[in-house]
Amino acid sequence: MGRGVHVLFAYLWYSESVTPDPSDPGRRPRPAPRTLGDLGYAALVLAGDTPSIEIEGLFRSDRTLRAIVLDVAGTLYLLTRDQLDHRMTGRLGYGRALNARVKAADLLTSAGCGLAPSLDLRAAAAALLGRPEEHRYADLLVLAPAGPRVVPVSEVFEGLSDLFRQEALHDPLTGLANRRLLEELGPPLVGTTGSSPTAVLYIDLDDFKVANDTFGHRTGDAVLAVFSARLRACTRPADLVTRLGGDEFAVLLVDVDEATARSIAQRILESLAEPFSHDGHDLRLTATLGLAMSNDIDGEDPAARLESLLRHADAAMLQAKHEGKRRLGRIDPFLPATRFARQALIRRRLPHALANAGFSLHYQPLMDIATGSCRAVEALLRWEDAVLGKVSPDEFIHVAEHTGDIHAIGRWVIDAACAQARRWADAGSPRAISVNVSPFQLAAGSLGHDLHTALARHGVPTSLLNIEITETAAVTDLPSAAVQLRALIDAGIGVALDDYGTAYSSLAMLRDLPLTGLKLDKSFIDTIDTDPTSAILVAGVLTPAKAMGLMTTAEGVERVAQLAVLRELGCDTAQGYLISRPLPAQELDNATTAQQTAAS
Ligand code: C2E
Ligand code: MG
Ligand code: MG
Repeated sequence: MGRGVHVLFAYLWYSESVTPDPSDPGRRPRPAPRTLGDLGYAALVLAGDTPSIEIEGLFRSDRTLRAIVLDVAGTLYLLTRDQLDHRMTGRLGYGRALNARVKAADLLTSAGCGLAPSLDLRAAAAALLGRPEEHRYADLLVLAPAGPRVVPVSEVFEGLSDLFRQEALHDPLTGLANRRLLEELGPPLVGTTGSSPTAVLYIDLDDFKVANDTFGHRTGDAVLAVFSARLRACTRPADLVTRLGGDEFAVLLVDVDEATARSIAQRILESLAEPFSHDGHDLRLTATLGLAMSNDIDGEDPAARLESLLRHADAAMLQAKHEGKRRLGRIDPFLPATRFARQALIRRRLPHALANAGFSLHYQPLMDIATGSCRAVEALLRWEDAVLGKVSPDEFIHVAEHTGDIHAIGRWVIDAACAQARRWADAGSPRAISVNVSPFQLAAGSLGHDLHTALARHGVPTSLLNIEITETAAVTDLPSAAVQLRALIDAGIGVALDDYGTAYSSLAMLRDLPLTGLKLDKSFIDTIDTDPTSAILVAGVLTPAKAMGLMTTAEGVERVAQLAVLRELGCDTAQGYLISRPLPAQELDNATTAQQTAAS
């Protein structure tokens, strides 16, 4: 990361290192201290040969004075009120008589050890906790360049707690407020119906993931930091600039009319004209924005109003992406909810699904066409949400890929499938499970680790696990994908190319990726029994696939006639409603038992 970026981080951190003042929600934040030099007060310095009695007088005349500093031949020592009182009282009450004429320096019991003002609060707290019990709560002497300071221990711990809070509420990469802080400060700012309007700008960088994959995460991080600084420069000091996660940002513009909000959005779009320079690369990025105004929103509950504003702005952004990116979107609030509004809601509900066990797996059998047996199943993800009801994976997987939730979701799917493989093996009817894997999981490079972790956790052999990767242009780094897939195959995990025939890169992927299986897309199979051309096309795919030693599967088989053609063409397995719909594991077991009973 370049030096300029570090300097920028320091600036952003400083400018954002704030804790909201509870008496004035969000408007005038108080800076959180970071080092010892930010704490305490300037010490009163006296010569070491000052008589003790004089110092006692000073403490008496100012009840708030907790400690003074003694200069003994150029070395500074802290003398606290407690230390002085202890010596002046003495064990038998003769302390004053014995010590009144003594020089203050002679009262000192511990060696002088001032701390550096640059010491950060974590290190200071650790140093305090390492002190002997009797000194643990004594004030600290801090040797600041402008003169010594006295720092009460309580200030160190209060400062530390402010710091923890501030870290919990800010994004460490950009120093911007995070979603939690937005949810804390936002509701009072969105006002009520009829009050002065607030706007939300939802901002998403276009194709940032491609830039990240191409130039690496360090460059991606640097771009996000610089973009954050540009965002701040485009907005006004009272506006709340937030990083929601990944390449998504939201700006809460307080007290604005729509024209002003639009001109700020325009400034943000223009701020991207200048390329992002990092590590010798010049990256040119664009962004898509969505705008929502608080006077479009009904309801009085402030938190719900903020939530709706964010959702409207998100939907407007998604619509603008659809219309061609690098623009500002605005949804007519009076039109019925669009599919973008639903997508925006999906984005907001997805994180709840993992936290609240909203996901489950259904299993669809793969039938061996020659024998009619079903020894393998495909795991298909199901999501039932309290607000949205049932959401199909076709709707939410690509949203999860965009938000980055796919990684946690993918790990959950792999783990749940392995747990089920274990249960079936334990019940004496082992079934191999195929798990769908997003190309984004491959791109992240951790797929192998996730698979092996789950297999080991549930004690499942690799022969019971297969993965299906969707044939899609999103596999951008074919060489890296090939290396990972080869390692999986060598470990005994099957790898099938899913939905074959639906994307333009079919042949290239078949040539470049190590595979053990190929699944022909339903669109190929649909007319295989009615249209001879379809049958010829499928034969044209099956022949080379079989020559390459791949296990072939036909998807979406719904009619007996389709199955007959597939048998004739030598396809290995079939999957579809004709054989079974995807079912929960228990229902699949019941159906299998019923079939076996009927057959015997
Ligand atoms: P896919 O992997 O190609 O899965 C087959 C889809 O076709 C499933 O849809 C299945 O329910 C449906 N299907 C199976 N047989 C028939 C049939 O005879 N007729 C018709 N009309 N449809 C049939 P589903 O479950 O809605 O999943 C859609 C896609 O979502 C999957 O396509 C897969 O690409 C993706 N997906 C599902 N689960 C996961 C997952 O856990 N992770 C990832 N990354 N993607 C998943
Ligand atoms: Mg599949
Ligand atoms: Mg498929």
